[in-house]
Amino acid sequence: MTAATPPPCQLCGATDWRPLHDIQPDRSVRTDGGIVAVPLGKFQCAACGLAVRREAAEDPATLYADGYQLYANRPNADRFDPSRYRNLVGLLTRLWGEGTAPRRVLEAGCGDGALTEAMHRHWPQARVFGVEPSATAVALAQAQGFPVVQGMIGETVPPEVIEGGFDLIYSIHVVEHTPDPSVFLRDLAALLAPGGRLIVTCPDGATPHAELIHPDHLFSMTQTHLAAFARRAGLRVLAQGDCPGGAGAEFSQMLVCALGGDAVWTPMVADPAAKALFDARQAYLDLWRGLEAALIGPLADGEPLYCFGAGGWVANIAANCPALWDRVTACAIDGGADQSVQGKPVLDYASLRGGGRRFLAAVNPAIQGQIAQRLGNDGHSVLAWPEALSA
Ligand SMILES: [Zn+2]
Repeated sequence: MTAATPPPCQLCGATDWRPLHDIQPDRSVRTDGGIVAVPLGKFQCAACGLAVRREAAEDPATLYADGYQLYANRPNADRFDPSRYRNLVGLLTRLWGEGTAPRRVLEAGCGDGALTEAMHRHWPQARVFGVEPSATAVALAQAQGFPVVQGMIGETVPPEVIEGGFDLIYSIHVVEHTPDPSVFLRDLAALLAPGGRLIVTCPDGATPHAELIHPDHLFSMTQTHLAAFARRAGLRVLAQGDCPGGAGAEFSQMLVCALGGDAVWTPMVADPAAKALFDARQAYLDLWRGLEAALIGPLADGEPLYCFGAGGWVANIAANCPALWDRVTACAIDGGADQSVQGKPVLDYASLRGGGRRFLAAVNPAIQGQIAQRLGNDGHSVLAWPEALSA
């Protein structure tokens, strides 16, 4: 692989790219939990602070091969919780505002269509469509009767969508996966009705957190970066800010924009805060690099280790702490049985109630304290994560 540095920064034009630390030299983990044989490969623009994944010719195939299931891992996505999209429906309707409901609504990158369907129920008079490139996700959506069509914005857009005229287009945690966010936003803007609104959400890269450790996140953007991509797409920014927290939406940002931006794009200027952001990102990645040693230290030779959890954080650990993962006997979750994850059987936690076992809490660090307390109350001991790795 040619470890080429990226082309000039899309936002400020600078060519001074600073490599960010890889966690493992030969692997990384996608947002859908797939472990791929490429390092993280991120760089930060020294001038404006935008973080990008370097481009290498063979990467897209490596990154997206093998049943990529991004749609299953969106914020709030929990296939077993029917209320998972309540927060997002609330956010989108609040941002749309009072008054007339939109007549035509499009969700770009709608995954299995659960949110599209929820929006359709919220505005039953509106024509609501979801468009999604993954054939698997579209099949899941259509099997449930959700208004979802297959297609890729800017490439192969189905007729229902290409006619445009959408009063509201929204896209939840998709823009950071696209090779050029401005092109993506411009392609969406072309489908807006006059006076229509475009709402996008994505991780907020201002505080380094888990979004940085996935190679399929091609950009890590602060709110300033996201707004700049929108302006470069010829859009006018109406509002932006944090997404409401909770249920995995922490560290997320949202942007509301409309047609009618500046005709001439003015690139970003250098940001004096870029150096501090670079140092914070490196420190965060260094925590990941040291995580395996920190967790494995207290383990005695041959001591059996159980893992509480079976989701995305299990994949994060399996990819980035491979020697520790080798030590894991089994995963446990409430009600788990007859499955496996990252090569380990998944047991029902109730079957391990006897106490006295050593556990690794492979869950979002925000809830590790709770899990550790619960397992401790059952007589188990839990490996402590470094406190600074709290995201
Ligand atoms: Zn830049």
